[in-house]
Amino acid sequence: MTTKQQIKLFQRYVIGNYARNPIVLVRGKGSYVWDAEGRRYLDMFPGWGVNALGHCPPRVVAAVRKQAGRLMHVANNYYNELQAVLAQTISKASFGGQCFFCNSGAEAVEAAIKLARIWGGEWQRIITMHNSFHGRTNMAIAATAQPKYHKGVLPAAVASFIYVPYDDVAAVEQAIAPDVCAIMVEPFQGEGGVNIPSPDYLPALRRLCDKRGLLLILDEVTTGCGRTGRYFGYQHTPGVTPDIMTMAKALGGGLAIGAIEAKPEIAKLLVPGTHAATFGGNPLACAASLATFETIREDKVLQNVRAVGGYLVRRFQQMQRRVPAIRAVRGTGVLVGVELDRNGGDLFKLCMKKGLLINCTHDTVMRFMPAMTLSRAEAEEGADIFERAFEEFLR
Ligand code: PMP
Repeated sequence: MTTKQQIKLFQRYVIGNYARNPIVLVRGKGSYVWDAEGRRYLDMFPGWGVNALGHCPPRVVAAVRKQAGRLMHVANNYYNELQAVLAQTISKASFGGQCFFCNSGAEAVEAAIKLARIWGGEWQRIITMHNSFHGRTNMAIAATAQPKYHKGVLPAAVASFIYVPYDDVAAVEQAIAPDVCAIMVEPFQGEGGVNIPSPDYLPALRRLCDKRGLLLILDEVTTGCGRTGRYFGYQHTPGVTPDIMTMAKALGGGLAIGAIEAKPEIAKLLVPGTHAATFGGNPLACAASLATFETIREDKVLQNVRAVGGYLVRRFQQMQRRVPAIRAVRGTGVLVGVELDRNGGDLFKLCMKKGLLINCTHDTVMRFMPAMTLSRAEAEEGADIFERAFEEFLR
């Protein structure tokens, strides 16, 4: 089918809730994808952060092939192979908690909110941050403190949250009311414009939670599983551990899987009958996720993330010195944002035309979330294309 025919088929049969770009992606390898016309793109935003080891990472492909022929799915009223091994792997890479598995970031956020409210009491509220993003289900989008997303969201869901500015401990402290049970925050904000809080932000929130008897929920859907150069974003701040943590995106190396991890004394409140996900933690997704962790470990991926992410930030900072239209460059590992003084939608399109896929978030922030396996040469290629597209954009 040609690109035109595919687009026509979409327009007739697929609900038009996404603003799609007019290319059909058909094949991928590492940091590159190819469209139906045979054009190659350097993908520096692979699958919105899902393809964190690049497209079709060999260990993940092999594990999925093997597991698909053995056992793909069984119900969670039986034990299955790999789910507990994956939970152990996550637990050992983080804070020693217990996991519940689901299939997406929003589902993980839903589970975290539910667990916090079981812990604190059904009518308890949760403090979340301006410019946050937690997903598109009713509760997750209500937790997202961006009014532009709230159209059509249940008022009762929105009333369950108190919104305060990011990186502002005093605002959180002031917002704590008797009916608040938790604070939920991204260690670094992704969708909200790649925002890096001050180093004492998370430690201060942790201390506040301990003092006031609240849970600290960290949403690591974007920052988790290596993207920031550590297994989890909170690990950049020694002494801080969450009570509940969400993860998804990179967790499956390309397959759909989400999870929460909670400290055992909190996790035990999710007794039979309180929560479930039919597909959650199936052997196929767990096999992919275990192969993802194995790749991160064996191929020293975290070191690469720190090196290549550092290079990208330095390149964009050099650009910023020459180009006044760049307001700021922010980054941690391979989560990098270049903030402009204007809307970046057209720059995104120019990059795509030149064979580079990135993202524009929050209208003005050009966001790079490349594969954690991006090589130095690929990073240079991406930065070169971005620079050329930028020159054209400003003309
Ligand atoms: N939390 C965060 C921090 C996210 O960035 C996202 C998605 N961008 C989500 C939750 C929702 O994830 P999903 O789209 O898999 O539901």
